[in-house]
Parts: sequence; structure tokens; C-alpha cells
Amino acid sequence: MKHLASKIFCIIALTAAQSAAEPLFPNSVVSNDLDFIRDDDPGPGFCLQYNGTTRAEMADKRHDTLFADNVHLFQANFADTTNVEVFVHPDVGTQTDAQDIAEPVLNAVAKLPRPMRELLSHVVIHEGNETAFSEDKGRFFAVYSANVRSRISTHDLQETIFHESVHATLDVPHASSVEWKTAQAADGAFITEYAADNPDGEDMAESALFAWTLLKHPGRLPAGVEDSVRTLMPNRLAFFEGLFLDWENLEKVQIDARC
Ligand SMILES: [Zn+2]
Repeated sequence: MKHLASKIFCIIALTAAQSAAEPLFPNSVVSNDLDFIRDDDPGPGFCLQYNGTTRAEMADKRHDTLFADNVHLFQANFADTTNVEVFVHPDVGTQTDAQDIAEPVLNAVAKLPRPMRELLSHVVIHEGNETAFSEDKGRFFAVYSANVRSRISTHDLQETIFHESVHATLDVPHASSVEWKTAQAADGAFITEYAADNPDGEDMAESALFAWTLLKHPGRLPAGVEDSVRTLMPNRLAFFEGLFLDWENLEKVQIDARC
């Protein structure tokens, strides 16, 4: 009987250990109902300046044509002195149509940590329903108008833009850094299947959203999810904690310098 009990215990323990190493969700954004970023989270206001139409580089995952004419050009001037340009393809429609789709995207950009917004060069907006993508060295991301509307309706737009902005602003130089690679190897598990399948390309963006929410808004994620983050990626969580602390110190220096 004693033997049987210990055997049962061993099986339960093994199952728990196995499940602890499994990713939590297929991906960080659309495969769960977690609200990582909320509409009332702090972020600077912005004014949107229209700079007319121009010929611009409009990377598009559907084809290799790089440049487009008559692109609507906006500049968002944020109250914290950061600026982000927005290029809207003429297929989206008139200036008003372009502004209508740029505004929710910029509302999400306003929720980013300031150092990420500062590094973000511009945003490309296309007509269509493709999923977003980003260019790490180009420091920009691209979204598609119907997909933006769809992600607003499922409360996933802010998370999508956070994920793409990590690619555009943090992947270079951090994703290939010794510190990140060492933390990743020490953890030996991934927070999502998407991260596990793409450890070089997607793990940082996938992990960052969980780390940001857990560290900046403790208690917002369900307790079980927070526990899993601490179990699956403790070293990467510590990496982000250090990075976010550096950002806070940077802000203090800038504020002090202004005074
Ligand atoms: Zn990604």
C-alpha cells in the first residue's frame, strides 16, 4: 500500500514537472483572453500632423514592390517629446480614412515604454487583412487596416503593437546578446509555442509582453499565469527587470538634466 502510494505520488510529480516546462499558450496575443495592456494604462497624449502625400518606402509582405506614390504622411508628436511618423498607403482611402486607421495604432504606440517609442522610426499602414510584421534593423512595423480593426474588436491591438515594437526596437541588439542567450539557455523552456518554435526570432517579443505586464502591473495576469512566467522564464524575467530598471534610471537622468 505504501509502495502504491509512493508510485502514485511519483506519477503526479512527473506530470507536474512536465506541464511546468510546457508553453502556456500557442502565442502571446490572439490565443488567449489576457488583457496585458489596458486602455486606461498611462501614456502621453499626441497631436497628429498631416504632411501631405509623398513617394515612400512601403514594405508589404504580399509582394516585393517597395515604393508607393501618394502615400499619406503623418507625424505623431507625443507629449513626452517622442515623434513617430506614419505612412498610410493610398489604397486605404482619403486623408480622413488614413487618419481614422492611424489614430488607434498611435493610441497603442502611446502605451509603449518611452525608450521603445523613442527608437521606433515609423509605422507603415496598408489596406488588407494580413497580420502585422516588423523590420528590426529598419526600426519600423507594418500593419494592415482590416487586421487592425479586427484586433481592436478582440482587444488585441495594443498587444500586437507591443509585440511588433519589441521586434522593431529591442531585437537589435538584445535578442542576439550574450545576456539574453544565456538567460534563454538557463531557463530551458518557453512561454508560448510560438516562442519555442522560433527561439531566435520570436522569443524576445513573446516573453517581453508577459514580463512587462507582470513587472509593471503585478496581479493583472491571473495568479496561475504569473506563477508559470516565474517558473518558465525566471532568468529572462530578470533580464527584463534589469532593462526596465535601466529605462527608469535613464528617465531620471533626463528629468534631472532638464532641471
Ligand atoms: Zn513576432
